[in-house]
Amino acid sequence: MTKTEIEHLKEFDKAHLWHPYTSALNPTEAYPVESAKGAEIKLCSGEVLIDGMSSWWAAIHGYNCQELNDAVKNQLAKMSHVMFGGLTHEPAVELGKLLLKILPPQMQHIFYSDSGSVSVEVAMKMALQYWHSRGNRHKNKFFTVKGGYHGDTWHTMSVCDPDTGMHNIWNGILPQQIFADKPNIGFYDNWNDSAADQLKKLFEQHHETVAAFIIEPVVQGAGGMNFYHVNYLKQIAALCKQYDVLLIFDEIATGFGRTGELFAQLHAQVVPDIMTIGKALTGGYMTFAATIATSNVAETISKGNPSEFMHGPTFMANPLACSLAIASINLLLKNNWQKKVKYIENVFKTQLECLKNCSTVKDVRALGAIGVVEMKKPVDMKTIQQQLVSKGIWLRPFGKLIYAMPPYIISQQQLNKLCSSMVEIIQNL
Ligand SMILES: *Cc1c(COP(=O)(O)O)cnc(C)c1O
Repeated sequence: MTKTEIEHLKEFDKAHLWHPYTSALNPTEAYPVESAKGAEIKLCSGEVLIDGMSSWWAAIHGYNCQELNDAVKNQLAKMSHVMFGGLTHEPAVELGKLLLKILPPQMQHIFYSDSGSVSVEVAMKMALQYWHSRGNRHKNKFFTVKGGYHGDTWHTMSVCDPDTGMHNIWNGILPQQIFADKPNIGFYDNWNDSAADQLKKLFEQHHETVAAFIIEPVVQGAGGMNFYHVNYLKQIAALCKQYDVLLIFDEIATGFGRTGELFAQLHAQVVPDIMTIGKALTGGYMTFAATIATSNVAETISKGNPSEFMHGPTFMANPLACSLAIASINLLLKNNWQKKVKYIENVFKTQLECLKNCSTVKDVRALGAIGVVEMKKPVDMKTIQQQLVSKGIWLRPFGKLIYAMPPYIISQQQLNKLCSSMVEIIQNL
């Protein structure tokens, strides 16, 4: 691309294209990308950036991956899509078989959809219809913790962190849910039984109106990159049983090995009634998600009136997406992902550790292939983004958080450069 062409592209983008969480008229800079391969993103300007984001948890095998390219090409030659109403196909069935193999045995009924937010909407609708089928009209609220993120659609937004989800501007319009405090005992910290007191009290007060408790297991992602103690999950699961409340785990960010277990719930050995997966499901190639329910949830809904589950996206079980998901999961399982994720965790732990001595840094933490530096004050996005790019790395900090979650295939050398650049920039902030 010539300089003029790049300028033209940027100008049109700036004038007409809305970006995530960005002002239409006064946007932050968007860097034109020419291509991406492995753990590298090549800009139109010729600069090559080491990718520390996996395009938001998704591109676990890196970009332009041979196995995934082949999967799309093979499927494309057969059909890219057919409706799922009244029809089915091999990619949907094969993916289903594969998911049942890697999920807890209780999870038996899969609902495919087109994005993470939609899969959470579906999970919430399932929970509501479950109680409808049981003839209980009172259980129609959701209970969650602060600091969560579950998507940007209306119902999912109601269970996002009230501050970062900007509930104040939607006061009186957004459904009002029940919030416990953000889990504040860290994954590696010592547990204290009193940490569950508030949860117990809120369950006792509200269980009669609560359809389900929804939470991201172990890692709260976009709501603040919080790694919390597994005992919260054990307590929540026990309270859900005690008070007859369904449990929904949102594993859209944490699924497929990111936290060091294939699914984060395995850290706590607890099983939900409904779970959602997305993001890395297709190895970051395209949008796709699934909501998976236990036999109990599916059977209860089916015995109700109506017995149908009233949801059906146009692109449900898209064959290209299913084929990609099959290829991505197979590649993950055969590639000794656990060792790679552990390696990334150890590099983050050792190389970012020195930042704990910085007066501007509040905390440094790592779990699985996630490294987080939490600053005391919000960073100036514009400046830090430019500094990161000029050092040849791609990260997308937000608020007080500068964090990395690279593709699992990142090389030692690339990972070292990612860490040393983070250290250098943060030390000079
Ligand atoms: C990203 C994310 C979602 C929303 O997924 P989209 O595909 O962006 O709609 C929901 N829950 C969690 C935990 C996520 O990280």
